[in-house]
Amino acid sequence: MSDAYDDQNIFAKILRGEIPSFKVYEDDDTLCFMDINPRTDGHCLVIPKTPCRNILDATPAQLAACMKTVNIVANAAKKAFDADGITLSQFSEAAGGQEVFHLHFHIHPRHTGVPMRPLAPGDMDAIKRHAEMIVAALG
Ligand code: AMP
Repeated sequence: MSDAYDDQNIFAKILRGEIPSFKVYEDDDTLCFMDINPRTDGHCLVIPKTPCRNILDATPAQLAACMKTVNIVANAAKKAFDADGITLSQFSEAAGGQEVFHLHFHIHPRHTGVPMRPLAPGDMDAIKRHAEMIVAALG
């Protein structure tokens, strides 16, 4: 299997506006949008705007930019869902559980004692509403 960046991956298409997404936040270097198979309410993804496959080929600048956005969105998501905490996850390469090969960080608002759901298609109206809740909490 090649470890080269493939610009036809689904997140590259979202970045180019070729397929839709529920945008939560963006700055010059990163984009955050909702995961369409949410494992918790408010499950969203932070990606760099520049090509990068995963944690293994990311530059320090890409990682720093993503963590800055993770910090901003995680606080907004915690507030929006009145969550008790946040789970941040990242999978690199197929063996690590990665399915989309553009670097991304999952942000999951968590409530005490509530497990994450299995990966399954979400209700699009609910996902849209949840995006709006995070956007509102960003102020
Ligand atoms: P992974 O590569 O295992 O970290 O997971 C990729 C994530 O991308 C999964 O949680 C999917 O639900 C999510 N995903 C796949 N396609 C889309 C899409 N078009 N919009 C938003 N999220 C997506």
